[in-house]
Amino acid sequence: MLQLVNVGHKSLADYATIASRGLMEDIRRLASPLEGSRVLHLSATAFGGGVAEINYTLVPLMQDVGLDTEWRIIHGQDEFFDVTKRIHNALQGRPEGLTPEHEDTYHRYNRMNADEFEDDFDFVVVHDPQPAALPEYLGASRARWIWRCHIDLSEPFRPVLDFLAPALSRYEAAIFHMPAYVPDIANLPPAYIWPPAIDPLTPKNMALSPEDAAYIVDQFGIDVDRPLLTQVSRFDPWKDPLGVIDAYREVKRTHSDVQLALVGSMAHDDPEGWEFYNQTVTYAAGDPDIFILSNLNNVGSVEVNAFQVHSNAVLQKSIREGFGLTVTEALWKGRPTVGGHVGGIPAQIVNGESGWLVDSPTECAEACREILDEPQAARQRGLRGKETVRRHYLTPRLLRDWLALFNRLAGNDVGETQLVVATAA
Ligand code: UDP
Repeated sequence: MLQLVNVGHKSLADYATIASRGLMEDIRRLASPLEGSRVLHLSATAFGGGVAEINYTLVPLMQDVGLDTEWRIIHGQDEFFDVTKRIHNALQGRPEGLTPEHEDTYHRYNRMNADEFEDDFDFVVVHDPQPAALPEYLGASRARWIWRCHIDLSEPFRPVLDFLAPALSRYEAAIFHMPAYVPDIANLPPAYIWPPAIDPLTPKNMALSPEDAAYIVDQFGIDVDRPLLTQVSRFDPWKDPLGVIDAYREVKRTHSDVQLALVGSMAHDDPEGWEFYNQTVTYAAGDPDIFILSNLNNVGSVEVNAFQVHSNAVLQKSIREGFGLTVTEALWKGRPTVGGHVGGIPAQIVNGESGWLVDSPTECAEACREILDEPQAARQRGLRGKETVRRHYLTPRLLRDWLALFNRLAGNDVGETQLVVATAA
C-alpha cells in the first residue's frame, strides 16, 4: 500500500473560540451522517507547498469528527516529478508541451501507484495533477473520487490540459479555488468552488510575541533594528523571487537600511527548485542585506512564523498563484502584505483596503516604501486583512465545505449549507 503520512492528533473542540458557534454546529451536524466513512487523501508529497500544509490539519480534524481518514503519498522518482512539474507549469500557462516519453512516464507511474492501491474507501480525494490518472488504472471502484486542484488554471497551455482531461473525466467532483479556474474541457465532473484555509493553532500561525519573533529572526543574522521585507515561498519562477530582489533594490535607493529575507523550502517533488535557488543566489550577487534561507538552514514552521511577524512588509509577488497561503498567513498576523495581482491573491487582499496588489517590481517597491514611511496606516490595512482571514480562510470553514460535499455525493441532505457549483469560466 502507498506510504502513509503520520499527521498526529487534533481536536475540533480547540477551535471553538476561533470559529463561530454556527460553524461549529454545522460541522457537527454534517459529520454525523458520515460517521465511520473511510476517506483517503492522496498527494505527491508530505513536505513543502500548500497541499501538505493543508492536509496536516485537515486530515486529523476529519478524523476527530468521526471520519476514518488517512493521507497517503504516491511513489515517484525524479523522472516522474520532472514531468509533473512540467504539467504543473503548463497548466499555469507556460507554453511547453509534453513529449510522448513524458506522457508515457506520467502514465507509467500512475499505473504503478494504482497497482499498489488498496481500494477500500468511501471517498478518495486526489490532490493536484500528479496522481490524477490513478483511477484510470483501477477498474471499478466503490469509492467516490474527487479531484482537488490547488493551482491557477485560468490560462492553461491547452495541449497539456487536453492531455490531462481524460483522467479528470473519471471523477465525480472537481474542486477549484475560484470560478476562473474551472477548465473548459469535455466531461469535466461537476465543479465546486471553495478556497483553502490556514490553521490558526499550528506553530506557523499561532500568536508569537514581537520579542520572540525578533529573537528568532536575529539568529539568522538579520539586524532586528533595521527594516525587513520578507517573501516566504518555494524557489519557483512563478513566485518571482528575482522580481522581489528587483523591488528590494529599488527600495534600497531611498531606504538604505532595508533588508530582504527570501525564505523558501525545497519540496521533494520539485526538482526544478534547486536550479532556481541557485539562480536566485546568483542574482542576489552577495548583497549582505539579502538573506536567502531554506529548510536547510532549519527554517521550520516557527521560524516562518517569526519572519512573518517580524517583517515590516510581507511580500508575495507571484506571477501566477493558485491561492497563496503565504498571503493568508501574513494577513492572519496582521502584517502589511503586498501581493501580486494574480490568482487567489486578489480574493484575499482588497488593494488599498486590506493590503497592496502590485503588477511589477516598481509597484512592489512603491508599496514597500509606503509601508516603511507610514507604518500606522499600514498597520490598519494589516488588521483589516486579518479580519478577512478570520471570516473566510480558517480551517473549520474548510472542514465544513468538505463535509458538505461528502454528504452531497453520498446523497445525504446538507440542510442549509451552501456549496458553490460552477461551470467553465
Ligand atoms: N512554506 C514553508 N516554508 C518555506 C516556504 C513555504 O513553510 O520555506 C509554506 C508556506 O508557509 C505556506 C506553503 O508552504 O504555508 C505554501 O503555500 P502557498 O499556497 O503559498 O504556495 P504553493 O507552494 O502551494 O504554491
